[in-house]
Amino acid sequence: MNKWLYLDGYVEITFSHNKKECLLVNTLDSKKYILTNSDYQVIKKIHANEYSIKLTDNDCKDLNHLIKLFEDNSIGGLEESNDKPFIFYPIINIQRDIRKFKNLSYRDQGYNTLENLFELSVHIDGKNILLSDQILKLVYESEHSSIAKINLHITNFNSNKVEITEFINNLNSVAKHCSINISIDHTEYFAFSESIKDSQELVKNNISVLVDNQSFNKEILKEKGVDILFKISNESQYNHYSNFVVNSHIDYNFHLDIKNCNTDFLKEFVFLNKDEILDKIITKQNYDANKTLNKALFGKLVIKNNKVYNCETKGKVIAKLEDNKTLKELIYRALVDNNEWFLTRNKVKPCKGCIFKNTCPPITDYELEATQYNFCTV
Ligand code: SF4
Repeated sequence: MNKWLYLDGYVEITFSHNKKECLLVNTLDSKKYILTNSDYQVIKKIHANEYSIKLTDNDCKDLNHLIKLFEDNSIGGLEESNDKPFIFYPIINIQRDIRKFKNLSYRDQGYNTLENLFELSVHIDGKNILLSDQILKLVYESEHSSIAKINLHITNFNSNKVEITEFINNLNSVAKHCSINISIDHTEYFAFSESIKDSQELVKNNISVLVDNQSFNKEILKEKGVDILFKISNESQYNHYSNFVVNSHIDYNFHLDIKNCNTDFLKEFVFLNKDEILDKIITKQNYDANKTLNKALFGKLVIKNNKVYNCETKGKVIAKLEDNKTLKELIYRALVDNNEWFLTRNKVKPCKGCIFKNTCPPITDYELEATQYNFCTV
């Protein structure tokens, strides 16, 4: 009989070969184990040999601690058999359709491109021309997509009240298949609220007001269905707004003014530390997704300055609105360009050399804006 040291198929392995360490993640219970040096070498062999390796009696003695770790935590163990154990070890298989799709010569046929659209963000600046017909046409076409919400970011509302209000009313009629979230600056909120007062509840219930000034009009807090988004860049602003909302019933959140944030503040309030990463619940689906695409950015189109981008921050221009591309064509472009939709941690420094690259949350707009991909203390 041979002795085989094996890992179960639900255990995912991430290596940092430079540091000679690896991370085992049990995707059933999210427990994680960091192994280094000689243990790392053993895991490397297990990984290269379809999740099991043959051991001699001496190996069994030397690796007793690993056998115990595997057995005590139900992530593998020692098996005696003549033949190599057959283990369904993890092979990434998600987004297979997309990879197949990229190689098709006739991509419009037999593939529902629209199912890859989850969100649309539209930036409306009252000082610029609003190509509302083109935007409404895209929203109309999104009816058979996977879209869940449309975000409207409105600036300079007072410069073009009539046209923006008319656009929102029209949007309300064509976007019944998803929610509409509107964000507006606190200085323009009351004028905006007055303009849409006859619009349907759909709009009124999803408004967030961006507050970036401590002396904002406190009457906003009495408004129903309004979320407050406090823009902060340091600890004193954070404390100010936190004290202000304590014991209140308002819905609020914080928005980081990342360009002005100091590093100490980010380290204390935003960066993940090692324990937090180790405690994170991670499913097999999320782990696999983290290897292939960016779940935070995938499926979002952004319309800004009458151009369509694949991402809020530093995204690529996919098309101009005036080109009248169909929604399907726009999503197709976002899928085939190697862009932010597929920006995973294993493509950027320093994450690509780190054992947590498939475990950490996907890269966010904040990290893109800061051009820094390690919002962590690891
Ligand atoms: S953010 Fe990057 S460097 Fe930091 S722990 Fe995660 S993968 Fe590692």
